[in-house]
Amino acid sequence: MPERIVVLGGGIIGLSCAFEAARNGSLVTVVEPSAIGGQASGAAAGMLAPYTENPEQPDAFFQLCMDSLKRYPAWVEQIESLSGMNVELMPTGSITVAMHEADLLPLQTRMAWQQRYGAAAELIGAEQLRHMEPKLAAAIAGAIYCPSESHVHAPKLVAALEVACLKLGIQLMSHAGEIKLPAITKDPLRMETAIETSEYGRIVGDKLIICAGAWASKYAELFGFPIPIHPIRGQICSFDIASEAGAEAGAVKHMVFSSQAYWVGKQDGTLICGASEDVAGYDTTVTERGIESLIRWGPRVFPFLEGKRPLSSWAGLRPATLDGWPLIGTIPGREDIIIAAGHYRNGILLSPATAAMVGSLLRGDSLKGSPFAPERFAKRGSGVQR
Ligand SMILES: Cc1cc2nc3c(=O)[nH]c(=O)nc-3n(C[C@H](O)[C@H](O)[C@H](O)COP(=O)(O)OP(=O)(O)OC[C@H]3O[C@@H](n4cnc5c(N)ncnc54)[C@H](O)[C@@H]3O)c2cc1C
Repeated sequence: MPERIVVLGGGIIGLSCAFEAARNGSLVTVVEPSAIGGQASGAAAGMLAPYTENPEQPDAFFQLCMDSLKRYPAWVEQIESLSGMNVELMPTGSITVAMHEADLLPLQTRMAWQQRYGAAAELIGAEQLRHMEPKLAAAIAGAIYCPSESHVHAPKLVAALEVACLKLGIQLMSHAGEIKLPAITKDPLRMETAIETSEYGRIVGDKLIICAGAWASKYAELFGFPIPIHPIRGQICSFDIASEAGAEAGAVKHMVFSSQAYWVGKQDGTLICGASEDVAGYDTTVTERGIESLIRWGPRVFPFLEGKRPLSSWAGLRPATLDGWPLIGTIPGREDIIIAAGHYRNGILLSPATAAMVGSLLRGDSLKGSPFAPERFAKRGSGVQR
């Protein structure tokens, strides 16, 4: 009989794990308290940028990001062919700008070690930069061009993944309401695990995968050790540059990073600009302060944004961990429960690699000694272990 898997959380991580489990022959149910993809995953800019996101060193997290980036094209192809939907995977490459000569030095240091890991990055002088990305400010001193970074349309990826999951026969139980934690019980006689939801009642499986994003810390009491995941609000906005004077659709060809903001041009002619980082609990309100700082900074990098107001703005809660790395693994003493949460700024990028790790755990492989072990914080109270 196929294994029955219950995935708790219907963001990109939950859907990716569900997709992987179903492709491996399991009977899968996804339980989501509210709307599928309605939290961080639907708010993301969709950048797949392991080099830019990891400027310091080639540690295990960087390797995980790289592994995931490599998996992306084949993974997206499966999702697109099953769903019949386009997720707009764009191999644009990225440009990280240096506003002053002095800012080039850390970029060169980063480039030096990243070249050994396939970055194929290049230092771009001011003159060449004007040809590559003509709308950039003339005052920019130079940049690093990283051709292997890309981006997807995050809400479209979530929507396509949802359809692909349905095509595989996965049951999606959205708007399940409250998931009652004390009712997550393992029945020793029937060897099954049950949860209780306010809308659908009792849901039973052989294994649970907890993919609750910024809400995952709520399971700490159940596991008996700390899960230091907390929400970091990200506010983000989009400009309609297709209809703006001085710009046109496709005017920004690459993902562009600066010290204060990033910009990603989407196929529909919008230019996404993100993102603030602040602590506001579970509040996803967009504040004037959060968005205005993005608007104010924009013209320094892209002069054509002077005086432009965003078409829309929104916010999401990044699931941040104490050490910045996700928790992916089986709960010690509860072989029926896996957690995959805490992907902070890189959950869209890390979805295929996370799903692959969870798939391997479901097949019975051990990730013993993994730097992403969920119990790593228990060993030093709530401190960082690495
Ligand atoms: C503004 C912004 C921009 C970003 N840009 C990028 C980017 O460019 N590239 C990138 O890789 N990442 C980006 N991220 C990060 C990325 O969005 C997250 O890392 C990723 O979406 C996390 O996915 P998730 O499924 O774990 O969380 P979520 O999408 O938040 O899903 C978690 C789900 O769990 C549900 N839930 C709530 N309570 C419970 C409970 N008790 N039990 C079970 N489920 C529960 C929630 O309703 C939610 O649907 C960005 C994030 C933000 C906010």
